[in-house]
Amino acid sequence: MENPISLLDLEAQYETIKVEIKEAINQVLESQSFIMGDFVKQFEKEVSDYCKSEHTFGCASGSDALLLALMAINIQPGDYVITSPFTFFATAGAVSRLGAIPIFIDIEADSFNIDPNKVREFLEGKDQLSKRLKIDQKKIKAIIPVHLYGQSAEMNPILNLADEFDLKVIEDAAQSIGTKYDNKLVGNLGDFGCFSFFPSKNLGAYGDAGLITVKNPELAKRVDILRLHGASPKYHHKYVGINSRLDAIQAAILSVKLKYLDEWSENRRTIAKSYNTLFEEVGLVQESAPSCFDNCLCFGQDDCELLDSKIILPKETTGQESEGGRHIYHQYTIRVKNRDRIQDQLNKEGIGSSVYYPLPLHIQECFSNLGYKAEDCPRAVCASNQALSLPIYPELKEDQIKKVVNTIAKALN
Ligand SMILES: *Cc1c(COP(=O)(O)O)cnc(C)c1O
Repeated sequence: MENPISLLDLEAQYETIKVEIKEAINQVLESQSFIMGDFVKQFEKEVSDYCKSEHTFGCASGSDALLLALMAINIQPGDYVITSPFTFFATAGAVSRLGAIPIFIDIEADSFNIDPNKVREFLEGKDQLSKRLKIDQKKIKAIIPVHLYGQSAEMNPILNLADEFDLKVIEDAAQSIGTKYDNKLVGNLGDFGCFSFFPSKNLGAYGDAGLITVKNPELAKRVDILRLHGASPKYHHKYVGINSRLDAIQAAILSVKLKYLDEWSENRRTIAKSYNTLFEEVGLVQESAPSCFDNCLCFGQDDCELLDSKIILPKETTGQESEGGRHIYHQYTIRVKNRDRIQDQLNKEGIGSSVYYPLPLHIQECFSNLGYKAEDCPRAVCASNQALSLPIYPELKEDQIKKVVNTIAKALN
């Protein structure tokens, strides 16, 4: 294939920082200090400064960050934790691993994030789902909003609900380091912020890595101990913890990369704007979102008011930068009805694309025992049928963006 365009090109980024990365790895090798130690401390401090979070702990992955947060608040078998059905599996997997039960509440009509209004209806017992599931209110312990694709969830209403219903807030910020909400960086708005540095994330390590921020100093102490088998001091086990450390080599690599993160995020935002403009120019954009999105009954299939020949652009629902918001476009995700046709055409022309996520969590086989029906979260099902993520990474060029847009135009015309 001539000049293929991949969904994500990690090589392009590596080329620009190769020398510094090798030097950083070499420093760890020279120190022979691979577990915890100064490189990890240094990176934790840098993220603290970056996110303005007081307590910051490296761990082995974003999945473990979620697990550690839930362990720190002592989530027990039979407890409930509210989250979005439209997210990567790890968000709900962490809940289930502790024997607790995820509650899936549908996403907003105009973003891909959990809908605080629906959460309220659920907590007040006013919707069908809460009536059917008959959940003991006192056992609902926490909510995990996910900032999907690099855009913040609607946090103020969520924080208010958490106050009112006495829930802990664990932000799944795995896709959103550098995202802003209300002029603040996400991951430091709730009780815990969970970050992933999986290689394909905006701040990607060269292997698995994660980090957790904690607001309350007591809970921070617990997290610090829980990630080291619950030992404090060493060999004296206060809790049954896990082994989840941030690898020193990864920490050193991440320290190099963090310096460039804002520049990379700005590039991603510029690329998203280019996509928006070019899609407008070729007349592919359906201007107003279909009203059926609000009360989706067709799961985004045949009856959907999204026109066959149009797409819907990603919306910055929590505001522009001037309004205190900042979408960092971990993914640039459009909505389309004829997704297969578009993906076929993109494939043919050597252009990568991906569906995040093709099956929402409330209807996954492993959760079938929880008693959900597809129509409990219809917008999530609709999104899973229509979402299509296009190539985006800081080094993507304007002519490549044009090629993606023109290929989609060709597929739809
Ligand atoms: C990547 C991701 C995770 C898990 O992170 P890992 O580091 O891969 O364990 C959790 N939640 C979301 C939304 C993610 O995108």
